[in-house]
Amino acid sequence: AINSEKREFKAETKKLLDIVAKSIYTDKEVFLRELMSNCSDALEKQRYSELTGKSEMRDVPLEISIFTNERERTVTILDHGIGMTKEEIIDNLGTIAKSGSQQFVSALEDDTSTGESIIGQFGVGFYSSFIVADSVEVISKSDSGEACRWISDGTGDYEISEIEGSDIERGTRITLYLRPECKNFSRPTEVKNILKKHSLFISYPIKLNGEVLNSLQAIWYRDKREVTEDEYDQFYESIANTKIPFKYQLHYSTDVPLAIKALLYVPSTNTEKFGMQQEASHLHLYCRKVLIKSKCSELLPHWLRFVKGVVDCEDLPLNISRENYQDSHLMAKLKNALTRRVIKLLEDEVKKDPEKYNKWYSEFGNFLKEGLATDQDYSQQLLKIIRYKTTKDNNKLISIDDYCNSMKDGQKNIYFHVTSGQAGAGASPFLEPFEQANIPVILLENHIDEVCLKNVNEYKGYKFINIESNYDEVAQDLGAKVDHDTTKGIPESEVTPFSLWLKSELAPTIAKITISKRLKTSPAVIVGEVSSSMRAMLAMVDQ
Ligand code: ADP
Ligand code: MG
Repeated sequence: AINSEKREFKAETKKLLDIVAKSIYTDKEVFLRELMSNCSDALEKQRYSELTGKSEMRDVPLEISIFTNERERTVTILDHGIGMTKEEIIDNLGTIAKSGSQQFVSALEDDTSTGESIIGQFGVGFYSSFIVADSVEVISKSDSGEACRWISDGTGDYEISEIEGSDIERGTRITLYLRPECKNFSRPTEVKNILKKHSLFISYPIKLNGEVLNSLQAIWYRDKREVTEDEYDQFYESIANTKIPFKYQLHYSTDVPLAIKALLYVPSTNTEKFGMQQEASHLHLYCRKVLIKSKCSELLPHWLRFVKGVVDCEDLPLNISRENYQDSHLMAKLKNALTRRVIKLLEDEVKKDPEKYNKWYSEFGNFLKEGLATDQDYSQQLLKIIRYKTTKDNNKLISIDDYCNSMKDGQKNIYFHVTSGQAGAGASPFLEPFEQANIPVILLENHIDEVCLKNVNEYKGYKFINIESNYDEVAQDLGAKVDHDTTKGIPESEVTPFSLWLKSELAPTIAKITISKRLKTSPAVIVGEVSSSMRAMLAMVDQ
């Protein structure tokens, strides 16, 4: 070794290492996930660098190899990623500069516990090696420097030296000398099980003692006829981090309006249902298999946040700044294309199996309604997959298209009524004339539903009308259709003085009193521009 020197860890790092070493942390196996994710990062950086012409393409396979040696009690992880120079090793492994570990130390300062309880929340990156090892050796070689060796027992200091004639062409090899009580991590079966659990999604081949473990790399690039159901399931499990099967899946490839290869999943259960917090995005953006951004929530509108999967877009310029990709006009175009495709998927699924869809809808309908309320661009398409109950059959969910098909001849509007979830909603006096005229009315459960439809305004040329307001339009549509028997009513001569009296009593709250031809059994209703549900909502906001 050349220029061998001993250096001390920075203070914070020492603190962290101290906790790691003392921890009797039960999830010791996380070290492997951390190291694998570093390998994957290093490989991504290398690939990116090659594709953008920053580094020369060489015949070194972009893969990860793991070797176990039970007799020596070691596990070694080798990647042909970007590698590190001596300075980088010192910066990266001698200091806590990185997000996860930094957060960990800050949290530790606020926490009086031993650190045991928070170690798992953060994942302490590279340092988690010391959970299982009492000595760690790193040999790394980048294209721009000599190979270097770093070794430490994870206490006060580390040793670093340059080495000549390393057998590593490029990349990093990490050897863990396992603590006696952690010798199980040098058993291939144990390592294999841990990898299956945490690292299947890594899009580079992982070899364990020479045998390839993961066949799932870049599954979205493969022809869909060649991907088995089991592979799709496994991919979903690794990406969504759940054993609960997905509901729908979309694997497609297109060139218009952009070159997209995507594998998207729609889950079967809504995790926000029980007031749980909103889930982080499980969408990852790639360009020609190069990860541009993981957890890329900008790929779909917020109301489609439940969709999980991978999107690969060849049209994104590779030199797109990883920080600034979201400013790109292309991103907006990509988002629009994906959004339309996801809605189209749901439209297709409705046609295939409406029962199955309705079941899914009962879990996820609110997301679609959120879209209707917030995103004008997709409202017409969304209306095809949103479901409503109507006065025709209060137990059946139907689409607006179904409603239009059941309209009476000459009906000009789509009518809705807000029931506010009341059981006796069907008995509302507002519904009376519609029943008589045999005109179906959509029953909305709450104010939000009304806001949604108000935003949309119309569908296929029909206006959405709340039967409580827009009295004139309603009257016009119902006009001739309501069979009104005037002989049974109160004579005109009595009604006029009565309505004058009522008006003086209720002024200024009531602007006008008219004799209704709409009602049959109910004596009176209050109508206005603003429906009662809207008034209730405004009153709430007003407080
Ligand atoms: P993080 O991955 O969150 O940055 P880690 O503690 O896991 O934190 O790693 C610290 C840094 O060490 C990484 O950011 C990276 O620069 C470097 N590093 C770790 N492992 C490797 C590797 N296999 N190849 C190249 N660089 C690595
Ligand atoms: Mg890491």
